[in-house]
Amino acid sequence: MAEAASPPPGRAILGGSFNPPHVGHLRLAIEAREALGDLVQGVDMVPCAVPPHKAQSAMLPFDLRARMVEACAQGLPWLRCNRMEAQRQGPSYTWDTLCAYREAEPDTDLYFILGSPDFALLSTWHKGLDLPRLSSFVVVPRKGHTSADFITAAKTMWPDAAERAPLLPACPCMTLPGGGLAHFLSVPWLAVSASRVRQLWLTGRNVDFLVPDAALQILRNNAQTVRHHWLEDGSAC
Ligand code: ATP
Repeated sequence: MAEAASPPPGRAILGGSFNPPHVGHLRLAIEAREALGDLVQGVDMVPCAVPPHKAQSAMLPFDLRARMVEACAQGLPWLRCNRMEAQRQGPSYTWDTLCAYREAEPDTDLYFILGSPDFALLSTWHKGLDLPRLSSFVVVPRKGHTSADFITAAKTMWPDAAERAPLLPACPCMTLPGGGLAHFLSVPWLAVSASRVRQLWLTGRNVDFLVPDAALQILRNNAQTVRHHWLEDGSAC
């Protein structure tokens, strides 16, 4: 009898504005990829075209942000930039992005990576509580959040969520209604944010080692455009 074909490895997805991409994003992608191991074939960084939860004012043009993400991914064969959100009109909802992945690759398991504060706010996202029908989550702690906070957040949003044996070593895990799992991946959160990079850049400070060199080169080559857009956010200077 022929053996049943094993399911294709899954894909991890890291969405964000990447305005600009920084070492925190890249380290997060690497840590998640290593923790997921053979469960995934790689990580897709998916730049947001129209962020539903962020002001558009200081946002660099989509193409510039995507080019920087692509530059950061060079040399990491398992890391890709997916520009799909630029092909849709209106707010870039994660629901629509994950639906597009499922439609394109129905047998591929998805792992959506996000910080613990965002995870705790999923009920405010468009169809956020339905997302476990499409994907599992990899939740990385921020602001001192513990695995107990993670479990509380999951049970608050989904009263039927249940703890289960970890699938990834030392990563507390919850089964969510709809089928997806939520894994708590306790890796350090680097003290860097895109807002701080923008602030440093606009005040003429050095952003070396915060932004990967390949992306930094693109920022420098487009210095006028970058300054023009980032200055639109009065809070950055
Ligand atoms: P901003 O400062 O403009 O709000 P950001 O630095 O938080 O931006 P995003 O593009 O909004 O960057 O983040 C994309 C993803 O990367 C999110 O899931 C976010 O939680 C995660 N992330 C952001 N900064 C870090 C960091 N320092 N370490 C690990 N993950 C991060």
